[in-house]
Amino acid sequence: MSAALTNVFSWSKSRHGKFTECRRLYWFHYYGSWGGWDVVKASPEVRERYVLKNLSTRYQWAGNVVHAAIAQTLEAIRHGARPTFESVRQRTHELMRAQFRDSRKGTYRINPKRHPGLIEHELKWHVPDEVWRQNWENAALSLQRFFESDWPERARRLAPADWLPVDAVDSFLLDGIKVFAAPDLALREGEKLILVDWKTGQPREEDREQVQGYALFAADKWKVPPEQIVARLVYLGAGQEIDVDVAEGALDTFKEHFRSSVEQMKACLRDPARNEADMADFPCTDQRERCRQCAFERLCREALQG
Ligand code: SF4
Repeated sequence: MSAALTNVFSWSKSRHGKFTECRRLYWFHYYGSWGGWDVVKASPEVRERYVLKNLSTRYQWAGNVVHAAIAQTLEAIRHGARPTFESVRQRTHELMRAQFRDSRKGTYRINPKRHPGLIEHELKWHVPDEVWRQNWENAALSLQRFFESDWPERARRLAPADWLPVDAVDSFLLDGIKVFAAPDLALREGEKLILVDWKTGQPREEDREQVQGYALFAADKWKVPPEQIVARLVYLGAGQEIDVDVAEGALDTFKEHFRSSVEQMKACLRDPARNEADMADFPCTDQRERCRQCAFERLCREALQG
């Protein structure tokens, strides 16, 4: 018999983002939807929140698909294959078309992890065909930029031992708290350990914090001092690459930010030791324009009108 899962407090950059954006959104994601994957045991309310929290906007969806296509391409290179841009582009296009049709039919309600669902379909927004086409073109451009960059060639030159494996849900402990961190690519080049994160959107300041967290993860996982780590943000959509400061001082600043974030999150809990939260302690945002773009809008409507 497998052990029952417990909702243990953890931290990630995206968790901090939701906490900052809207407390109610944060509660839906990390408490109100807990256990919603179990279609038999979850209450209809919990299941509904679970389905909604797994929806993506078309931009997030395109980014996820590009990440998966690059991960598969790198894995193929690691095994000696030479995938071409055309073959990956075509496969990705077919996948997006299939996922689009599935989402429009609402298949995500059966299994939102296996069948990605789009907020645009759930909220029945009218999105012109031209906008969907542009979303695909942006994804294709990101893939093209990846193939035109030196990353595929650098990957081909790697010895097997220089590929560093990262699980999609990898983590490390900071002050005893599980911190999720999963760079898109980790490799050794000589003395250096290179961490790479692909981005399909425009550069944002918080991306830097994310890869500083990855640097702490890498230092912990592969026992490498920060001065040997290079953390790079590769903005495929914008055609830009940025190295992020991961020197000791910058990582100390990250730790301060992490501690303050954890402290604020825990202060909202009814029972911090048991990670128990009550929805009443997590108010709706007063940034009402954010609600119009939110998958949970229907669930908040009454509270928002009050
Ligand atoms: S609809 Fe508004 S208040 Fe409700 S979770 Fe979304 S952003 Fe927060």
